[in-house]
Amino acid sequence: MDKKTHNVIIQSLRKASLRWRVRNEVITESKVRVEEGRYKNGNQRYRVYFRCASCGELFNRKQIDVDHKDEVGQFVDYNTFVERLFCEKSNLQVLCKEGCHAKKTKVFNKNNAKKNKAKKKAKDVLDFL
Ligand SMILES: [Zn+2]
Repeated sequence: MDKKTHNVIIQSLRKASLRWRVRNEVITESKVRVEEGRYKNGNQRYRVYFRCASCGELFNRKQIDVDHKDEVGQFVDYNTFVERLFCEKSNLQVLCKEGCHAKKTKVFNKNNAKKNKAKKKAKDVLDFL
């Protein structure tokens, strides 16, 4: 399969995972109702927030991501990719986008870059031999 077709499939699977029931359950379970003032008629007014599983702070819906505790990671094959993407609920958590998720992704990408560099080095050595 050519690389472009492969990329379209991967992107489509990722997009589909955003509409996945289990992912939405994880978001729903992180919901917190906070009392915020009162309506003119005296009724309690609430606002819905989402709790980050890492820092414990509250955020609005646009400020959170659903994180794979064990990363989906680099592509091995389609079965592995789908299993990692549509994983057990216990492997999913809500993280704040800018803080905890960004931090985790940065560390993950850094480690990956190191791994790839080591892989490339090993390949260069093998090509040289
Ligand atoms: Zn956080």
